Amino acid sequence: MFDGTSARQARRIAGKYPKSSAAALILGTVTRPAAEAHGGVRAAGPGRACRGGRRGGGGGDVSLDEVQELDGRPPGESGCASRALSLPVRTVRSTQLSDHLTSPDITAKFESRGVDPRDGDEACANCGKLGSDAVKLKNCNACRLVKYCGVDCQRAHRKKHKKACKQRVAELKDEQLYSQGLERPEGDFCPICTLPIPLQMNEHSSFMTCCMKQICLGCVLTAQKRGMFDCAFCRTPLAGNDADRLAMIQTRVAKKDPIAINILGQNYFKGELGLQKDARKAFELWEEAAELGSIDALFSLGNAYDLGEGVQQDKTKAAEFWTKAAMQGHVPARANLGWLEVEKGNNDRALRHYLISAKMGERGSVETIKEAFMAGAATKEQYAEALKGYQDATQETKSHDRDEAKAFLDNRK
Ligand SMILES: [Zn+2]
Ligand SMILES: [Zn+2]
Ligand SMILES: [Zn+2]
Ligand SMILES: [Zn+2]
Repeated sequence: MFDGTSARQARRIAGKYPKSSAAALILGTVTRPAAEAHGGVRAAGPGRACRGGRRGGGGGDVSLDEVQELDGRPPGESGCASRALSLPVRTVRSTQLSDHLTSPDITAKFESRGVDPRDGDEACANCGKLGSDAVKLKNCNACRLVKYCGVDCQRAHRKKHKKACKQRVAELKDEQLYSQGLERPEGDFCPICTLPIPLQMNEHSSFMTCCMKQICLGCVLTAQKRGMFDCAFCRTPLAGNDADRLAMIQTRVAKKDPIAINILGQNYFKGELGLQKDARKAFELWEEAAELGSIDALFSLGNAYDLGEGVQQDKTKAAEFWTKAAMQGHVPARANLGWLEVEKGNNDRALRHYLISAKMGERGSVETIKEAFMAGAATKEQYAEALKGYQDATQETKSHDRDEAKAFLDNRK
């Protein structure tokens, strides 16, 4: 798998998401629906960057100044000699696809027949017959990259085409993987002020068991200042105890509300609200919630498979569920995909995921990219892009009410 150095690097870069944090991951998931899922990813907290280094390290705070400061330093000399890496600096590949029509075997085929490969979609990839009213060409269903005059030609060409076809299919898959889920899902937005809730959501919002809404602390506090202590969204009096809370959730579960089913799963997983801890039951509820559209449940299913909690451990399935969640904008799931790629030693794929989650406001991801940059495993441009995206995303979550709520809560500490 890894050689010694890259394994070390993997662990280092994966610092935010070490295997042991998977437990924390899922624990994060269970305290709250969308939010705790979000709380989950970052078990280790900030500050892992470059401990012994001259710069940066500490609080994990990152700034554009720092990018400038580090500008021009060769990789591995960013004040952290100990983190020199074996992996070469690689640029994150763009999602642009290479021109497969010019792949050698196809090109040769057409050249030998005097057909421009760029007109390949007009001719049978096997015999070169041009499409016409009489000759209807059909796409290769898998890659849609080449056409054939008939099944015989398709069959005859299969062996030659297989490699390019597979590659193209993989690229189409990747294209979707890295282009979908770039925006946070609806449940990440406060239904009152309509702003995205900062990550980690459970620290910045309150979950209402009456209406299954995640309300930002700015709106909660503003309502309370007006003397309104019921749910700030639906005005239902808040549940006074666990039994009432559970009853409220059950009511919504009976109505097949995916958020409620997901929450009940989390309650079972943790043994909350007076329920007997039951990972198997939690898993079943998450399956149902996911079926009904809960993105958080997809994430929790990924966690369950990853840890083998309530289900047979299956890392491939874990990745599948995280992928589904990430492609619908689930930020911690996206960061976990980055972590998985780090584990596999796929540096550039990892960076592509982390770049997405950083731009969605996930601090651990921007810190991970910073670490990678300082270790020479990411470019300055990548780090700068991640940082700028992170700062923009954070800015979008700010409001006067939220600032006031934060000041109020800080004062009470
Ligand atoms: Zn043909
Ligand atoms: Zn094909
Ligand atoms: Zn709000
Ligand atoms: Zn409510």
